Amino acid sequence: MTQVLVLNSGSSSVKYQLVDAESADVLANGLVERIGEPGGLPNHKAALAQVLNDLDLSGVAAVGHRVVHGGEVFYKPTLIDEAVETAIDELSALAPLHNPPNLTGIRAAMEELPNVPHVAVFDTAFFHGMPKAASTYAIDRDIASQWGIRKFGFHGTSHEYVSGEVAKFLDRDPTRLNQIVLHLGNGASASAVRAGQACDTTMGLTPLEGLVMGTRSGDIDPGALLHLQRNGVDVDQLLNRQSGLKGLCGDNDFRQVVERIDAGDQDAKLAYDVYIHRLRRYIGAYLVDLGRVDAITFTAGVGENSSPVRADALKGLEGFGIVVDPTRNAVRSRDPRYISPEGAPVAVLVVPTNEELAIARKALKAIGA
Ligand code: ADP
Repeated sequence: MTQVLVLNSGSSSVKYQLVDAESADVLANGLVERIGEPGGLPNHKAALAQVLNDLDLSGVAAVGHRVVHGGEVFYKPTLIDEAVETAIDELSALAPLHNPPNLTGIRAAMEELPNVPHVAVFDTAFFHGMPKAASTYAIDRDIASQWGIRKFGFHGTSHEYVSGEVAKFLDRDPTRLNQIVLHLGNGASASAVRAGQACDTTMGLTPLEGLVMGTRSGDIDPGALLHLQRNGVDVDQLLNRQSGLKGLCGDNDFRQVVERIDAGDQDAKLAYDVYIHRLRRYIGAYLVDLGRVDAITFTAGVGENSSPVRADALKGLEGFGIVVDPTRNAVRSRDPRYISPEGAPVAVLVVPTNEELAIARKALKAIGA
């Protein structure tokens, strides 16, 4: 049996995919939204019951759960038992928006499917081995250790999957490649990957740090937060929901931002420019960090679909061997592809991410199937 049910439980939604981890065939997928909201299902258990009712689960070997924060404890796909549930719960302090709904989804799924192994796959795992110089914040070390303050990184399943696919696409040994992976979706993060190991990433203790995102700020002077907090602003709400593209221009969907720029909207243009400026800053940082880069890869909703973002992110870097070919960049496809010219020193690629398939494969491996 190689089928895995992959679940991604958010605060008011459950995304599911039934996938064959060997053939990569998607047998069913969908999204239940508005859980606990007017007009929606009352809770995650009811949502899962509805999902499971519609699926043929006779061939399912495991359920794979996406869990956002694995903290210091979890850096491998982990078979879920009561102790694991408790530990995920304890990590909620570090990921209050993500881990509690992940856990609610896990508990509901385990009640509905008690006879199938459930495996947690952590978004932080790929970054576990980052060098200390990259993962340490320069604050009092006792306070840092007391409160578990360090860079963890997120989107790890995607960064790992995509960097692996890049090696396959280039037909190269992953341990001989230096890569920059740009995961640009609603949430966005970049990573530097040396010889198959992540050596830096933009997200930090939480998924707030780094790049400009749909509604999240990414980097900001911590002094600005102190100032706002002293003046009674709800900083949590501001940084998570009223910032990023949304905060700058009122729209968080990239397609809308681009449409408005085309119509001459200045707020949308500034939002785009800030987004690109931040992205380029990290590309520069990772070029220096890696010393030599073999591949730069765009993935996720914006990275896979927005040719202007890809062109602007890498504009003017010919001196570093980094070139985007306009004709190749304009091609729309669901397959991995080059957007750099034939024979360019740095391969610039678009590689679709597939977190569900990656989770399914990890879940199967974790149960020894
Ligand atoms: P999530 O982080 O929610 O998984 P996705 O990876 O699906 O996000 O990416 C969502 C983002 O991708 C949205 O901002 C959406 O506007 C953007 N996107 C999707 N298609 C396009 C497109 N054709 N051009 C530009 N942006 C796009």
